[in-house]
Amino acid sequence: MANEKIPYKIYLEENELPKEWYNVRADMKKKPAPLLNPATGKPCTAEELSHVFCDELVAQELNETDRFIAIPQEIMDFYKMFRPSPLVRAYFLEKKLGTPAKIYYKFEGNNTSGSHKLNSAIAQAYYAKKQGLKGVTTETGAGQWGTALSMACSYFDLDCKVYMVKVSYEQKPFRREVMRTYGASVTPSPSTTTEVGRKILAEFPDTNGSLGCAISEAVEAATTQEGYRYVLGSVLAQVLLHQSIIGMESKIAMDKYGIKPDIIIGCAGGGSNLGGLISPFMGEKLRGEADYQFIAVEPASCPSLTRGTYAYDFCDTGKVCPLQKMYTLGSGFMPSPNHAGGLRYHGMSSILSELYDQGLMEARSVEQTAVFEAAEMFARVEGILPAPESSHAIRAAIDEALKCKETGEEKTILFGLTGTGYFDMYAYGAFNDGKMSDYIPSDEEIQKSLANLPKID
Ligand SMILES: *Cc1c(COP(=O)(O)O)cnc(C)c1O
Repeated sequence: MANEKIPYKIYLEENELPKEWYNVRADMKKKPAPLLNPATGKPCTAEELSHVFCDELVAQELNETDRFIAIPQEIMDFYKMFRPSPLVRAYFLEKKLGTPAKIYYKFEGNNTSGSHKLNSAIAQAYYAKKQGLKGVTTETGAGQWGTALSMACSYFDLDCKVYMVKVSYEQKPFRREVMRTYGASVTPSPSTTTEVGRKILAEFPDTNGSLGCAISEAVEAATTQEGYRYVLGSVLAQVLLHQSIIGMESKIAMDKYGIKPDIIIGCAGGGSNLGGLISPFMGEKLRGEADYQFIAVEPASCPSLTRGTYAYDFCDTGKVCPLQKMYTLGSGFMPSPNHAGGLRYHGMSSILSELYDQGLMEARSVEQTAVFEAAEMFARVEGILPAPESSHAIRAAIDEALKCKETGEEKTILFGLTGTGYFDMYAYGAFNDGKMSDYIPSDEEIQKSLANLPKID
Protein backbone atom coordinates (compact mmCIF):
# COMPACT_ATOMS: atom_id res chain seq x y z
CA MET A 1 0.00 0.00 0.00
CA ALA A 2 3.02 2.21 0.59
CA ASN A 3 3.38 3.95 -2.77
CA GLU A 4 -0.32 4.24 -3.49
CA LYS A 5 -1.77 7.73 -3.58
CA ILE A 6 -5.35 6.55 -3.36
CA PRO A 7 -6.64 6.57 0.23
CA TYR A 8 -8.17 3.41 1.64
CA LYS A 9 -11.50 5.19 1.92
CA ILE A 10 -12.50 8.05 -0.34
CA TYR A 11 -15.01 10.37 1.30
CA LEU A 12 -16.54 13.50 -0.15
CA GLU A 13 -16.68 16.84 1.60
CA GLU A 14 -20.11 18.33 2.16
CA ASN A 15 -19.62 20.86 -0.62
CA GLU A 16 -18.72 18.07 -3.06
CA LEU A 17 -21.93 16.08 -2.54
CA PRO A 18 -24.31 15.66 -5.48
CA LYS A 19 -27.30 18.00 -5.30
CA GLU A 20 -29.21 16.28 -8.10
CA TRP A 21 -30.31 12.81 -9.06
CA TYR A 22 -29.47 11.73 -12.59
CA ASN A 23 -32.21 10.39 -14.85
CA VAL A 24 -30.50 8.02 -17.30
CA ARG A 25 -33.62 7.77 -19.49
CA ALA A 26 -32.93 11.32 -20.69
CA ASP A 27 -29.84 10.02 -22.49
CA MET A 28 -31.39 6.83 -23.88
CA LYS A 29 -32.23 7.14 -27.57
CA LYS A 30 -34.62 4.23 -27.35
CA LYS A 31 -36.56 4.68 -24.11
CA PRO A 32 -37.88 1.87 -21.91
CA ALA A 33 -41.38 0.77 -22.92
CA PRO A 34 -44.19 2.56 -21.03
CA LEU A 35 -46.19 1.03 -18.19
CA LEU A 36 -49.51 -0.29 -19.50
CA ASN A 37 -52.91 -0.28 -17.88
CA PRO A 38 -53.89 -3.99 -17.75
CA ALA A 39 -57.56 -3.11 -18.28
CA THR A 40 -57.11 -1.02 -21.44
CA GLY A 41 -53.73 -2.22 -22.75
CA LYS A 42 -52.83 1.48 -23.18
CA PRO A 43 -49.97 3.41 -21.53
CA CYS A 44 -50.86 4.39 -17.98
CA THR A 45 -51.72 8.05 -17.59
CA ALA A 46 -50.52 10.17 -14.69
CA GLU A 47 -54.14 10.28 -13.54
CA GLU A 48 -54.39 6.48 -13.37
CA LEU A 49 -51.05 6.10 -11.63
CA SER A 50 -51.92 8.77 -9.06
CA HIS A 51 -54.49 6.46 -7.46
CA VAL A 52 -51.63 4.15 -6.50
CA PHE A 53 -48.56 6.40 -6.19
CA CYS A 54 -47.87 9.91 -4.82
CA ASP A 55 -48.26 12.66 -7.42
CA GLU A 56 -44.64 13.81 -7.43
CA LEU A 57 -43.42 10.21 -7.75
CA VAL A 58 -45.77 9.67 -10.69
CA ALA A 59 -44.22 12.72 -12.34
CA GLN A 60 -40.75 11.26 -11.78
CA GLU A 61 -41.88 7.86 -13.06
CA LEU A 62 -43.08 9.40 -16.32
CA ASN A 63 -40.21 11.87 -16.72
CA GLU A 64 -37.99 10.69 -19.58
CA THR A 65 -36.55 14.04 -20.55
CA ASP A 66 -35.03 15.87 -17.58
CA ARG A 67 -31.46 14.72 -17.17
CA PHE A 68 -31.15 16.05 -13.62
CA ILE A 69 -33.72 16.36 -10.86
CA ALA A 70 -32.85 18.49 -7.83
CA ILE A 71 -32.74 16.65 -4.51
CA PRO A 72 -35.01 18.55 -2.08
CA GLN A 73 -33.19 20.09 0.89
CA GLU A 74 -35.15 17.97 3.43
CA ILE A 75 -33.87 14.82 1.72
CA MET A 76 -30.33 16.20 1.53
CA ASP A 77 -30.54 16.81 5.28
CA PHE A 78 -31.57 13.23 5.97
CA TYR A 79 -28.90 11.89 3.62
CA LYS A 80 -26.34 13.61 5.85
CA MET A 81 -27.03 11.02 8.56
CA PHE A 82 -25.50 8.25 6.47
CA ARG A 83 -24.08 9.80 3.32
CA PRO A 84 -21.77 10.16 1.59
CA SER A 85 -21.20 6.43 1.71
CA PRO A 86 -17.54 5.45 1.57
CA LEU A 87 -15.88 4.39 -1.63
CA VAL A 88 -13.31 1.85 -0.48
CA ARG A 89 -10.23 0.62 -2.27
CA ALA A 90 -10.20 -3.11 -1.54
CA TYR A 91 -6.44 -3.29 -1.02
CA PHE A 92 -6.73 -6.28 1.29
CA LEU A 93 -8.88 -8.25 -1.12
CA GLU A 94 -6.50 -7.43 -3.99
CA LYS A 95 -3.60 -8.70 -1.90
CA LYS A 96 -5.43 -11.86 -0.93
CA LEU A 97 -6.21 -12.59 -4.58
CA GLY A 98 -2.74 -11.61 -5.78
CA THR A 99 -4.33 -9.69 -8.63
CA PRO A 100 -2.98 -6.70 -10.54
CA ALA A 101 -6.58 -5.44 -10.78
CA LYS A 102 -7.60 -2.43 -8.72
CA ILE A 103 -10.83 -3.09 -6.89
CA TYR A 104 -13.15 -0.47 -5.42
CA TYR A 105 -16.47 -0.88 -3.70
CA LYS A 106 -19.16 1.61 -2.74
CA PHE A 107 -20.49 0.56 0.66
CA GLU A 108 -24.17 1.30 1.27
CA GLY A 109 -24.63 -0.70 4.49
CA ASN A 110 -23.73 2.06 6.95
CA ASN A 111 -27.22 2.79 8.25
CA THR A 112 -29.60 0.96 10.56
CA SER A 113 -31.62 -0.52 7.69
CA GLY A 114 -28.32 -2.00 6.50
CA SER A 115 -28.74 -1.37 2.78
CA HIS A 116 -29.01 1.15 -0.03
CA LYS A 117 -32.82 1.07 0.17
CA LEU A 118 -32.92 4.04 2.54
CA ASN A 119 -31.83 6.30 -0.36
CA SER A 120 -35.19 5.87 -2.05
CA ALA A 121 -37.29 5.27 1.08
CA ILE A 122 -36.58 8.75 2.39
CA ALA A 123 -37.41 10.32 -0.97
CA GLN A 124 -40.70 8.46 -1.26
CA ALA A 125 -41.71 9.26 2.32
CA TYR A 126 -40.87 12.92 1.73
CA TYR A 127 -43.13 13.22 -1.31
CA ALA A 128 -45.95 11.39 0.50
CA LYS A 129 -45.67 13.82 3.40
CA LYS A 130 -45.54 16.81 1.09
CA GLN A 131 -48.79 15.65 -0.51
CA GLY A 132 -50.41 15.62 2.92
CA LEU A 133 -51.00 11.86 3.01
CA LYS A 134 -51.62 9.91 6.22
CA GLY A 135 -49.37 7.06 5.32
CA VAL A 136 -47.98 4.55 2.86
CA THR A 137 -48.21 0.81 2.34
CA THR A 138 -45.60 -1.51 0.94
CA GLU A 139 -44.35 -5.06 0.76
CA THR A 140 -41.07 -6.41 1.99
CA GLY A 141 -39.36 -9.69 1.21
CA ALA A 142 -36.15 -10.13 3.12
CA GLY A 143 -37.07 -7.07 5.18
CA GLN A 144 -34.51 -4.48 4.08
CA TRP A 145 -36.99 -2.32 2.21
CA GLY A 146 -39.58 -2.45 4.98
CA THR A 147 -36.92 -1.48 7.50
CA ALA A 148 -35.72 1.42 5.38
CA LEU A 149 -39.25 2.65 4.77
CA SER A 150 -40.20 2.44 8.44
CA MET A 151 -37.16 4.58 9.29
CA ALA A 152 -38.08 7.12 6.62
CA CYS A 153 -41.75 7.24 7.70
CA SER A 154 -40.89 7.74 11.34
CA TYR A 155 -38.65 10.67 10.34
CA PHE A 156 -41.55 12.36 8.55
CA ASP A 157 -44.20 11.13 10.99
CA LEU A 158 -46.13 9.06 8.44
CA ASP A 159 -48.05 5.85 9.08
CA CYS A 160 -46.30 2.83 7.52
CA LYS A 161 -48.05 -0.49 6.79
CA VAL A 162 -45.75 -3.27 5.69
CA TYR A 163 -46.86 -6.58 4.16
CA MET A 164 -44.02 -8.97 4.83
CA VAL A 165 -43.62 -12.23 2.91
CA LYS A 166 -44.77 -14.84 5.41
CA VAL A 167 -41.65 -16.99 5.33
CA SER A 168 -39.47 -13.95 6.13
CA TYR A 169 -41.90 -12.77 8.80
CA GLU A 170 -41.35 -16.09 10.55
CA GLN A 171 -37.64 -16.50 9.80
CA LYS A 172 -36.55 -12.91 10.35
CA PRO A 173 -38.23 -11.80 13.58
CA PHE A 174 -35.45 -9.30 14.25
CA ARG A 175 -36.12 -7.38 11.05
CA ARG A 176 -39.78 -7.32 11.97
CA GLU A 177 -38.94 -5.84 15.36
CA VAL A 178 -36.72 -3.16 13.87
CA MET A 179 -39.68 -2.08 11.73
CA ARG A 180 -42.02 -2.06 14.71
CA THR A 181 -39.49 -0.10 16.74
CA TYR A 182 -39.70 2.59 14.06
CA GLY A 183 -43.49 2.51 14.38
CA ALA A 184 -44.52 0.45 11.33
CA SER A 185 -47.26 -2.17 11.45
CA VAL A 186 -46.12 -5.46 9.96
CA THR A 187 -48.55 -8.06 8.53
CA PRO A 188 -47.45 -11.49 7.29
CA SER A 189 -48.49 -11.97 3.65
CA PRO A 190 -50.69 -13.50 2.32
CA SER A 191 -53.09 -12.28 4.98
CA THR A 192 -56.83 -12.20 5.50
CA THR A 193 -56.78 -8.39 5.70
CA THR A 194 -57.14 -7.97 1.92
CA GLU A 195 -59.36 -9.47 -0.74
CA VAL A 196 -56.42 -10.55 -2.86
CA GLY A 197 -54.74 -12.13 0.19
CA ARG A 198 -57.89 -14.10 1.02
CA LYS A 199 -58.13 -15.25 -2.61
CA ILE A 200 -54.52 -16.45 -2.68
CA LEU A 201 -54.95 -18.21 0.67
CA ALA A 202 -58.09 -19.99 -0.56
CA GLU A 203 -56.18 -21.28 -3.57
CA PHE A 204 -52.85 -22.02 -1.83
CA PRO A 205 -53.54 -22.45 1.92
CA ASP A 206 -49.98 -23.60 2.69
CA THR A 207 -48.16 -20.90 0.75
CA ASN A 208 -45.11 -19.25 2.31
CA GLY A 209 -45.94 -16.11 0.43
CA SER A 210 -44.00 -14.29 -2.27
CA LEU A 211 -42.99 -10.76 -3.11
CA GLY A 212 -45.51 -10.62 -5.96
CA CYS A 213 -48.30 -11.57 -3.61
CA ALA A 214 -47.27 -9.09 -0.90
CA ILE A 215 -47.20 -6.32 -3.54
CA SER A 216 -50.81 -7.10 -4.49
CA GLU A 217 -51.90 -6.86 -0.87
CA ALA A 218 -50.03 -3.60 -0.26
CA VAL A 219 -51.50 -2.02 -3.40
CA GLU A 220 -55.00 -3.04 -2.37
CA ALA A 221 -54.46 -1.67 1.13
CA ALA A 222 -53.31 1.67 -0.33
CA THR A 223 -56.08 2.06 -2.88
CA THR A 224 -58.91 1.14 -0.51
CA GLN A 225 -57.92 3.49 2.32
CA GLU A 226 -58.32 7.26 2.27
CA GLY A 227 -55.02 9.14 2.48
CA TYR A 228 -52.73 6.24 1.64
CA ARG A 229 -50.53 5.49 -1.33
CA TYR A 230 -48.36 2.54 -2.25
CA VAL A 231 -44.57 2.75 -2.43
CA LEU A 232 -42.14 0.27 -3.95
CA GLY A 233 -38.49 -0.28 -3.08
CA SER A 234 -37.09 -1.36 -6.44
CA VAL A 235 -37.89 -1.98 -10.13
CA LEU A 236 -39.56 1.39 -10.85
CA ALA A 237 -37.82 4.18 -12.75
CA GLN A 238 -38.32 6.58 -9.81
CA VAL A 239 -36.40 4.20 -7.52
CA LEU A 240 -33.47 3.99 -9.94
CA LEU A 241 -33.54 7.78 -10.08
CA HIS A 242 -33.19 8.10 -6.29
CA GLN A 243 -30.53 5.40 -6.23
CA SER A 244 -28.47 7.34 -8.76
CA ILE A 245 -27.05 9.07 -5.67
CA ILE A 246 -24.81 5.96 -5.38
CA GLY A 247 -23.40 6.40 -8.86
CA MET A 248 -23.16 10.19 -8.63
CA GLU A 249 -21.11 10.02 -5.44
CA SER A 250 -18.93 7.24 -6.87
CA LYS A 251 -18.25 9.21 -10.01
CA ILE A 252 -17.40 12.43 -8.16
CA ALA A 253 -15.07 10.53 -5.81
CA MET A 254 -13.34 8.69 -8.65
CA ASP A 255 -13.01 11.79 -10.80
CA LYS A 256 -11.41 13.53 -7.83
CA TYR A 257 -8.54 11.05 -7.96
CA GLY A 258 -8.51 10.55 -11.71
CA ILE A 259 -9.72 6.97 -11.46
CA LYS A 260 -11.66 5.49 -14.35
CA PRO A 261 -13.33 2.13 -13.79
CA ASP A 262 -13.14 -0.40 -16.63
CA ILE A 263 -15.75 -2.72 -15.19
CA ILE A 264 -18.75 -1.79 -13.02
CA ILE A 265 -20.57 -4.61 -11.26
CA GLY A 266 -23.72 -4.84 -9.20
CA CYS A 267 -26.13 -7.47 -7.97
CA ALA A 268 -29.55 -7.30 -9.57
CA GLY A 269 -32.84 -8.10 -7.88
CA GLY A 270 -35.26 -5.52 -9.21
CA GLY A 271 -32.30 -3.51 -10.48
CA SER A 272 -32.31 -0.41 -8.29
CA ASN A 273 -28.83 -0.48 -6.77
CA LEU A 274 -27.22 -1.55 -10.02
CA GLY A 275 -29.22 0.99 -12.00
CA GLY A 276 -28.30 3.70 -9.50
CA LEU A 277 -24.61 2.80 -9.46
CA ILE A 278 -24.18 2.63 -13.21
CA SER A 279 -26.49 5.50 -14.24
CA PRO A 280 -23.99 8.38 -14.54
CA PHE A 281 -21.40 6.09 -16.13
CA MET A 282 -24.01 4.68 -18.51
CA GLY A 283 -24.93 8.26 -19.36
CA GLU A 284 -21.38 8.85 -20.55
CA LYS A 285 -21.50 5.66 -22.58
CA LEU A 286 -24.86 6.61 -24.11
CA ARG A 287 -23.52 10.05 -25.05
CA GLY A 288 -20.40 8.47 -26.55
CA GLU A 289 -18.07 10.17 -24.06
CA ALA A 290 -16.57 7.07 -22.44
CA ASP A 291 -16.87 3.32 -22.44
CA TYR A 292 -17.41 0.95 -19.56
CA GLN A 293 -18.24 -2.72 -19.14
CA PHE A 294 -21.33 -3.13 -16.97
CA ILE A 295 -22.18 -6.48 -15.37
CA ALA A 296 -25.47 -7.38 -13.67
CA VAL A 297 -25.18 -10.37 -11.35
CA GLU A 298 -28.23 -12.41 -10.44
CA PRO A 299 -28.78 -15.68 -8.59
CA ALA A 300 -28.89 -18.86 -10.68
CA SER A 301 -32.12 -19.67 -8.82
CA CYS A 302 -33.92 -16.54 -10.10
CA PRO A 303 -32.28 -15.68 -13.44
CA SER A 304 -34.59 -13.07 -14.97
CA LEU A 305 -32.00 -11.39 -17.25
CA THR A 306 -30.03 -14.48 -18.23
CA ARG A 307 -32.91 -16.90 -18.76
CA GLY A 308 -36.08 -14.81 -18.81
CA THR A 309 -37.98 -13.28 -21.72
CA TYR A 310 -38.24 -9.60 -22.66
CA ALA A 311 -41.98 -9.05 -22.62
CA TYR A 312 -44.83 -7.24 -20.93
CA ASP A 313 -45.69 -8.88 -17.64
CA PHE A 314 -47.48 -8.27 -14.39
CA CYS A 315 -45.38 -6.85 -11.59
CA ASP A 316 -47.34 -8.80 -8.96
CA THR A 317 -49.06 -12.14 -8.47
CA GLY A 318 -52.47 -10.58 -7.91
CA LYS A 319 -52.21 -8.72 -11.25
CA VAL A 320 -53.33 -5.41 -9.78
CA CYS A 321 -50.25 -3.38 -10.81
CA PRO A 322 -49.57 -1.86 -14.24
CA LEU A 323 -47.95 -4.10 -16.84
CA GLN A 324 -44.27 -3.50 -17.39
CA LYS A 325 -42.06 -4.57 -20.28
CA MET A 326 -39.08 -6.26 -18.71
CA TYR A 327 -36.94 -9.36 -18.60
CA THR A 328 -39.17 -11.68 -16.63
CA LEU A 329 -39.58 -15.26 -15.48
CA GLY A 330 -43.36 -14.78 -15.29
CA SER A 331 -45.27 -13.25 -12.39
CA GLY A 332 -46.21 -16.72 -11.13
CA PHE A 333 -42.57 -17.84 -10.90
CA MET A 334 -41.84 -19.14 -7.42
CA PRO A 335 -38.08 -19.08 -6.88
CA SER A 336 -36.55 -21.76 -4.71
CA PRO A 337 -35.72 -20.69 -1.17
CA ASN A 338 -32.44 -18.97 -2.06
CA HIS A 339 -30.89 -17.10 0.84
CA ALA A 340 -30.52 -13.85 -1.06
CA GLY A 341 -34.11 -12.79 -0.38
CA GLY A 342 -33.62 -9.40 -2.01
CA LEU A 343 -32.84 -10.99 -5.37
CA ARG A 344 -35.93 -13.18 -5.62
CA TYR A 345 -38.11 -10.94 -7.78
CA HIS A 346 -39.42 -12.46 -11.05
CA GLY A 347 -38.80 -9.36 -13.16
CA MET A 348 -36.29 -6.54 -13.66
CA SER A 349 -36.32 -2.76 -13.94
CA SER A 350 -37.58 -1.72 -17.38
CA ILE A 351 -34.63 0.68 -17.74
CA LEU A 352 -32.05 -2.05 -17.12
CA SER A 353 -34.04 -4.48 -19.27
CA GLU A 354 -33.91 -2.06 -22.19
CA LEU A 355 -30.18 -1.31 -21.71
CA TYR A 356 -29.49 -5.05 -21.55
CA ASP A 357 -31.59 -5.67 -24.63
CA GLN A 358 -29.61 -3.01 -26.50
CA GLY A 359 -26.38 -4.80 -25.56
CA LEU A 360 -25.14 -1.93 -23.38
CA MET A 361 -24.94 -4.10 -20.27
CA GLU A 362 -24.03 -7.73 -19.63
CA ALA A 363 -25.58 -10.16 -17.19
CA ARG A 364 -24.46 -13.35 -15.53
CA SER A 365 -25.87 -15.67 -12.92
CA VAL A 366 -24.01 -17.25 -10.02
CA GLU A 367 -24.80 -20.13 -7.68
CA GLN A 368 -25.23 -19.48 -4.02
CA THR A 369 -22.45 -21.66 -2.63
CA ALA A 370 -19.94 -19.79 -4.80
CA VAL A 371 -21.54 -16.56 -3.60
CA PHE A 372 -21.04 -17.45 0.04
CA GLU A 373 -17.44 -18.50 -0.62
CA ALA A 374 -16.88 -15.00 -1.95
CA ALA A 375 -18.75 -13.50 1.02
CA GLU A 376 -16.58 -15.41 3.49
CA MET A 377 -13.35 -14.35 1.81
CA PHE A 378 -14.49 -10.73 1.67
CA ALA A 379 -15.60 -10.71 5.33
CA ARG A 380 -12.26 -12.12 6.45
CA VAL A 381 -10.05 -9.70 4.57
CA GLU A 382 -12.12 -6.50 4.29
CA GLY A 383 -13.80 -6.70 7.68
CA ILE A 384 -17.40 -6.20 6.53
CA LEU A 385 -19.91 -9.05 6.79
CA PRO A 386 -21.72 -8.63 3.46
CA ALA A 387 -25.40 -9.25 2.71
CA PRO A 388 -25.96 -12.39 0.61
CA GLU A 389 -27.39 -10.14 -2.12
CA SER A 390 -24.29 -7.94 -2.20
CA SER A 391 -22.10 -11.02 -2.26
CA HIS A 392 -23.29 -11.78 -5.78
CA ALA A 393 -21.44 -8.66 -6.87
CA ILE A 394 -18.42 -9.63 -4.76
CA ARG A 395 -18.35 -13.02 -6.54
CA ALA A 396 -18.27 -11.42 -9.97
CA ALA A 397 -15.68 -8.82 -8.89
CA ILE A 398 -13.42 -11.58 -7.57
CA ASP A 399 -13.88 -13.59 -10.77
CA GLU A 400 -12.94 -10.56 -12.89
CA ALA A 401 -9.92 -9.84 -10.66
CA LEU A 402 -8.78 -13.45 -11.03
CA LYS A 403 -9.04 -13.14 -14.81
CA CYS A 404 -6.72 -10.13 -14.57
CA LYS A 405 -4.33 -12.25 -12.56
CA GLU A 406 -4.13 -14.68 -15.47
CA THR A 407 -3.79 -12.08 -18.20
CA GLY A 408 -1.73 -9.59 -16.20
CA GLU A 409 -4.20 -6.79 -17.04
CA GLU A 410 -4.45 -4.00 -14.48
CA LYS A 411 -8.14 -3.35 -14.86
CA THR A 412 -10.02 -1.11 -12.46
CA ILE A 413 -13.14 -2.74 -11.05
CA LEU A 414 -15.92 -0.96 -9.18
CA PHE A 415 -18.68 -2.90 -7.49
CA GLY A 416 -21.66 -2.03 -5.33
CA LEU A 417 -21.58 -3.43 -1.80
CA THR A 418 -25.25 -2.91 -1.10
CA GLY A 419 -25.50 -3.97 2.52
CA THR A 420 -24.58 -5.93 5.59
CA GLY A 421 -25.62 -9.49 6.40
CA TYR A 422 -26.26 -9.43 10.15
CA PHE A 423 -29.86 -10.59 9.70
CA ASP A 424 -28.82 -13.40 7.37
CA MET A 425 -27.03 -15.60 9.86
CA TYR A 426 -29.22 -18.64 9.15
CA ALA A 427 -27.86 -18.48 5.62
CA TYR A 428 -24.29 -18.14 6.86
CA GLY A 429 -25.04 -21.01 9.26
CA ALA A 430 -26.12 -23.28 6.40
CA PHE A 431 -22.95 -22.35 4.54
CA ASN A 432 -20.73 -22.91 7.58
CA ASP A 433 -22.35 -26.31 8.14
CA GLY A 434 -21.79 -27.29 4.51
CA LYS A 435 -25.54 -27.64 4.04
CA MET A 436 -26.11 -25.03 1.38
CA SER A 437 -27.65 -26.23 -1.87
CA ASP A 438 -27.49 -24.76 -5.36
CA TYR A 439 -30.93 -24.91 -6.84
CA ILE A 440 -31.26 -24.05 -10.52
CA PRO A 441 -34.72 -24.05 -12.10
CA SER A 442 -35.23 -26.33 -15.10
CA ASP A 443 -36.13 -24.97 -18.55
CA GLU A 444 -39.53 -26.64 -18.17
CA GLU A 445 -40.19 -24.78 -14.94
CA ILE A 446 -39.37 -21.44 -16.54
CA GLN A 447 -41.33 -22.23 -19.70
CA LYS A 448 -44.34 -23.22 -17.64
CA SER A 449 -44.28 -19.91 -15.81
CA LEU A 450 -43.69 -17.90 -19.01
CA ALA A 451 -46.68 -19.58 -20.66
CA ASN A 452 -48.87 -17.38 -18.45
CA LEU A 453 -47.50 -14.05 -19.68
CA PRO A 454 -50.28 -11.62 -20.59
CA LYS A 455 -51.03 -11.46 -24.31
CA ILE A 456 -50.18 -7.99 -25.56
CA ASP A 457 -50.27 -7.07 -29.21
C1 LIG B 1 -32.97 -5.27 -1.91
C2 LIG B 1 -31.53 -5.50 -1.93
C3 LIG B 1 -30.85 -5.80 -3.12
C4 LIG B 1 -31.53 -5.97 -4.44
O1 LIG B 1 -32.37 -4.97 -4.87
P1 LIG B 1 -32.08 -4.10 -6.15
O2 LIG B 1 -33.31 -3.30 -6.32
O3 LIG B 1 -31.83 -5.02 -7.28
O4 LIG B 1 -30.91 -3.27 -5.84
C5 LIG B 1 -29.48 -5.96 -3.07
N1 LIG B 1 -28.80 -5.87 -1.93
C6 LIG B 1 -29.41 -5.59 -0.75
C7 LIG B 1 -28.60 -5.52 0.49
C8 LIG B 1 -30.78 -5.40 -0.72
O5 LIG B 1 -31.39 -5.12 0.42
